[in-house]
Amino acid sequence: MQTQVNLVFHNNGLRSYIEVDLCARCPRQDNKGCCGFYSPVFYATDLVYLAHHQPELLQEIFQMDGITVLDASVTINQQPDGDSYRCRFHSASAGCRLPQNLRESVCRHFVCPDIGWEKNPHLLKWKNFFEQLADYEIRLNNGAAEFIQARRLSLRKPADRQEAIKLMEEFLKKEASNQPAFFDEVPVMEKAVVSCELRFGKEWTL
Ligand code: SF4
Repeated sequence: MQTQVNLVFHNNGLRSYIEVDLCARCPRQDNKGCCGFYSPVFYATDLVYLAHHQPELLQEIFQMDGITVLDASVTINQQPDGDSYRCRFHSASAGCRLPQNLRESVCRHFVCPDIGWEKNPHLLKWKNFFEQLADYEIRLNNGAAEFIQARRLSLRKPADRQEAIKLMEEFLKKEASNQPAFFDEVPVMEKAVVSCELRFGKEWTL
């Protein structure tokens, strides 16, 4: 069965994201879709953003059960749910409770592979954009991690967290002050419609 999927690409710097209207009628039909298979990981770029825009969420993250805190990242481990798992931010009735701008990178960029938007030649610029953005974020986050580690700070130690995030911000401000050229290669926002073959349940690839 063919269906049309509406996508909206947002070039919003390090908070760029993709909206997908198929999520509201997820072909997995299990009330969790991709969020049943993922444990979000918040790195420096996310932590600094949350510290400024939603400090209460940052505080909540560090207080949640089932997190893995490393020197420069926090993973919210998925929890068992039936015969699989569920992300701790996801509810069967309301989906993800985080608005797009507060989610980490994978959650902001992920689109089910069966939708196949990357194969559309008109959207090649967005494919290139999100690939370059992912690489850029990895470079920034690795750099921020090294920056705090060199100063013997670690998010593992609650007493270090405020200072570590402050130094991450200092590093990111300096490193990201010259925005890479790929940010200028796509518009601020673009809507697209793609057609794909729908399959249901576990037949739908995540
Ligand atoms: S944070 Fe939101 S989008 Fe990401 S896996 Fe969890 S529920 Fe899904």
